[in-house]
Amino acid sequence: MKTSTTPATRTFDYIIVGGGAAGCVVASRLSEDPGVRVCLLEAGGPDTSVLIHAPMGFAVSAPLKVHNWGYETVPQPGFKGRRGYQPRGKVMGGSTSINAMVYTRGHRADYDHWASLGNPGWSYDEVLPLFKRAEHNHCFGETTYRGTGGPLQVSYLRSPSPINEVFLQACEQTGLPRTEDYNGAQQLGCGPTQAMQAGGERCSASKAYITPQRGRSNLTVITQAHTRRVLMDGKRATGVEYEQGGQVHQLHAAREVVLSAGAFGSPQLLMLSGIGPQEQLQANGIATVHTLPGVGQNLQDHVTTVLIQRSARKEATLGISLNGLATVVKAIFEWRNKRTGWVTSNVAESQGFLKTDPSADTPDIQLALCTGIVDDHNRKTHLGHGYTLHVTLCRPKSRGSVTLQSAQATDAPLIDPAFFQHPDDMATLVKGTQIGLDILQAKPFDAYRGEMLYPVERNNPAQIEAFLRDHCDTEYHPCGTCKMGPHSDPMAVVDADLRVHGVQGLRVVYASIMPTLTGGNTTAPTVMIGEKAADLIRSGH
Ligand SMILES: Cc1cc2nc3c(=O)[nH]c(=O)nc-3n(C[C@H](O)[C@H](O)[C@H](O)COP(=O)(O)OP(=O)(O)OC[C@H]3O[C@@H](n4cnc5c(N)ncnc54)[C@H](O)[C@@H]3O)c2cc1C
Repeated sequence: MKTSTTPATRTFDYIIVGGGAAGCVVASRLSEDPGVRVCLLEAGGPDTSVLIHAPMGFAVSAPLKVHNWGYETVPQPGFKGRRGYQPRGKVMGGSTSINAMVYTRGHRADYDHWASLGNPGWSYDEVLPLFKRAEHNHCFGETTYRGTGGPLQVSYLRSPSPINEVFLQACEQTGLPRTEDYNGAQQLGCGPTQAMQAGGERCSASKAYITPQRGRSNLTVITQAHTRRVLMDGKRATGVEYEQGGQVHQLHAAREVVLSAGAFGSPQLLMLSGIGPQEQLQANGIATVHTLPGVGQNLQDHVTTVLIQRSARKEATLGISLNGLATVVKAIFEWRNKRTGWVTSNVAESQGFLKTDPSADTPDIQLALCTGIVDDHNRKTHLGHGYTLHVTLCRPKSRGSVTLQSAQATDAPLIDPAFFQHPDDMATLVKGTQIGLDILQAKPFDAYRGEMLYPVERNNPAQIEAFLRDHCDTEYHPCGTCKMGPHSDPMAVVDADLRVHGVQGLRVVYASIMPTLTGGNTTAPTVMIGEKAADLIRSGH
């Protein structure tokens, strides 16, 4: 592998934009063939920082602008005009280098639904082998559902807090049973977090798929390279233009350009290249190459709330106190010497999937128990110890958009997730929050429970709704902005082979192609999309 500021060649077979979850997979898989030249462009830097490899480092990078684009949304009417925060990774590995490492695939019904929308090849039975191929599972080994031998390492946490067992017992007493594997036969239930980690270190997409390929001479990785647009010859993509250190460069793609620049970056790049809704292009003075009204539309994101409980049990929860500081210093030394201890925590140490409507086919709420006080993405700090329950809506019905602020690639796009635009989203999250409060009040927590940071009454739905509007925000899973669908769907941006409709030589490979958001965290599905894209691209040539 060549890491380069100025590549020796300006022509590659494939150019992939964005070194995140999907981009790393596609670059790695395509460059398995020594006969093709692959170039991966990433706007951020290399993933050398200890804040990436030490799992707890994300508690610093996610709230701050460290390896992070640190976007904000436009004011959200559903949040009483408050702006949401949208951290996204800006480094090799993309958000997989700053995320909480929770490995969840979603529900089998999510993929069957994609297939039913006119996307052949995307049903659960068809994508399951790709999930298995991608992972090396340390929790269960090879099973009907789980794989071994793949690049992405998935394990249980090495040093989980004792409060996880308390949470799991509280779930059981509240009617949510344990499930052996929420990525296996049954999602419904609770269980310890399966984390993208190995040996007490983060396993990002870059670490899994790119770092081991350092020996490949046909793979060039260019970091600090901000792609400005796709070069078009008529309706054919022929390369990309990027900026690095104030200099503008062009690269040419003999076969294809692949956009894997995230749910915000990919639609932004399409529009900057003249592909998108007519009015967006005209308003920003961009010449139209191809009108595609769906580009940037259909934005979906998981909205979540945090129920924060103070606790005097310093040995089981992270916090800011003399004791907490001493624990952190000790933990850093433990991690340096043994790769165990608090530093290996992903904070969100247990998961649960529940139904607010028992007659429903699929869980509609995801729970995550965090072993510390996590308020406003850890941007608000509080003295003392505690624990936090994330209550997340699995399948929001609200639909937002990503539009252009200007024709400058360096200007952030306008992000509007339209949280709570659909009334069902609020109704379901109120019910989920009530169940979350029941769990926190269950007997096993008696020895741990202090005051709630933001007290809310379980049987007062109006008060819960006001609380949600004040405190909810993203669970970090924007998707859908380059929706996959058949040609007959006017809002589809890519077809089932992930080729941009009406344009040649250009694919989008990322969570943005999801027509609907999966019921769970989005890294595992995005890696699967990368694996599938690699097969589609290889079989097409
Ligand atoms: C704080 C946080 C916590 C999360 N926790 C979890 C979790 O626990 N489990 C889970 O499954 N998911 C989690 N996610 C979501 C998950 O990380 C993403 O869904 C997943 O990483 C897929 O995103 P990506 O990295 O491909 O996209 P992005 O992070 O958006 O990656 C796109 C890449 O493209 C690059 N890029 C963008 N624009 C350009 C451009 N113009 N030129 C060149 N490069 C460009 C970016 O710098 C980035 O590296 C979390 C996300 C965040 C931010």
